[in-house]
Amino acid sequence: MSDDRISRRCEELGLRMTEQRRVVAQVLSAADDHPDAEELYRRASQIDPKISIATVYRTVKLFEEAGILERLDFRDGRARYEDAERDHHDHLIDLHSGEIIEFVDEEIERLQQKIAERLGYRLVDHRLELFCVPLSGKKCES
Ligand SMILES: [Zn+2]
Repeated sequence: MSDDRISRRCEELGLRMTEQRRVVAQVLSAADDHPDAEELYRRASQIDPKISIATVYRTVKLFEEAGILERLDFRDGRARYEDAERDHHDHLIDLHSGEIIEFVDEEIERLQQKIAERLGYRLVDHRLELFCVPLSGKKCES
């Protein structure tokens, strides 16, 4: 299994790591998408069939409160999670297929700083989500 950076950070923060928390951490460390709690439960069950969905919910909440995970809302009624220490990126959500595309745009980054400064602030963080439907002509792949 891949290296479990989430467990390592939990330990650095002094969180008590039970075996089941470790399983959830391991699944999250391996994820390069934006799973919700049910998807995490499905993946965790493959490692530990005895894990419960309640444990998964409690664990992601704990990790989120500790700043290890970022919670994302793509307006489909499900909270999704991503490693808070991943490199900064924004999200484009394809409302037809549900596909999530990650992107970084230097122009947008600069523009946001400029807006903050114009309003008398220094930008420290931001989140940008683009909710989209495919242009007609783009083949729907869902
Ligand atoms: Zn992302």
